[in-house]
Amino acid sequence: MKEKITPHLKRLIDEGSKALSLQFHSVGKNPTVENTEKVVEYAFANLDPLGEESQYSPVKGITHKFRNRALFKVSYRCAAHCQFCTRARQIGDTSGDLSPEEIETALSYIRDHPEINDIILSGGDPLYTPHITLGLLPELAKIKSVKVIRIGTRLPIHSPKSFETTPLKNLLRMTCRISLKKPLYVLINISHFDELTKDVRDVIRRIRKNCTAVFSQTVFLKGINDDVEVMGHLLNELYHMGVIPYYLYRCDYVKGIERYVCSFEKERMIVSEIRRRLSGIAVPEYIIDVSGKGKIPIPLDFWGKVDFSHCRDYDGKLARL
Ligand SMILES: *Cc1c(COP(=O)(O)O)cnc(C)c1O
Ligand code: SF4
Repeated sequence: MKEKITPHLKRLIDEGSKALSLQFHSVGKNPTVENTEKVVEYAFANLDPLGEESQYSPVKGITHKFRNRALFKVSYRCAAHCQFCTRARQIGDTSGDLSPEEIETALSYIRDHPEINDIILSGGDPLYTPHITLGLLPELAKIKSVKVIRIGTRLPIHSPKSFETTPLKNLLRMTCRISLKKPLYVLINISHFDELTKDVRDVIRRIRKNCTAVFSQTVFLKGINDDVEVMGHLLNELYHMGVIPYYLYRCDYVKGIERYVCSFEKERMIVSEIRRRLSGIAVPEYIIDVSGKGKIPIPLDFWGKVDFSHCRDYDGKLARL
């Protein structure tokens, strides 16, 4: 994946943040990264193991995999490139940009499928192209069957300064107006407490002030946050800032990001210990997005013998882990 770093991230890396260097610098610049543990041999073969385009994209921009909810991929572009990105196959590519006609087609698909009541703006980063998202939000809010809108973003972490620009100020104002009618949830992807600088905290506070509930999503990343103290500190800080930790993901088995996959046993041990130590709301659901259909909760160490070689997905089909 091509390297792309914002001045904000570069400053934190220059100041010595290893956690950020490991996330945003390519392998060559991080010679200390060890090889991954052994994961089953079928894994890592595929660039799109979750079938986002190959199976579940009825029209450009939409991934409709679960009946009531759909992803709306606003573009494939982000302010910076997280080297562990599960969508490494497409991030940075302008081929995900949607023409006005394609946006209209995507909106029609949502209108024509009233079973979809939850739209997740995703990408790419929907806040990286605020002019598109500004046009999209009111159109989505107008659709009766859409009850909830979520925005998945990492822009507050990549570039807190960009929230000073007019389009993003307008966007925050708009989220406030819309969320009075329909809940609007912002989900921030965050890996490490080094990311929670003062200006990032200020942006998150402003987002919360604009009537939006803020949730976090975190991916377990080897050598970055696969540690009880590190992960516990991050989740506690988020909780104390008014952010609700939502999902803690096992890193997807995507080709090209093998070096980030943590020891599965260690992850379970970490989450079990965090469950003991932290307030319940600070503990996200620890899940794996299986190469079938579903984000499957992973049992913690409180249970007896569990066979972790496979599980059943949402459709009851066997999925290998
Ligand atoms: C994760 C995801 C969702 C949202 O799932 P929730 O469990 O409701 O947060 C929706 N569509 C796709 C394709 C997803 O990967
Ligand atoms: S912000 Fe999200 S979509 Fe963009 S590179 Fe990072 S993980 Fe991938």
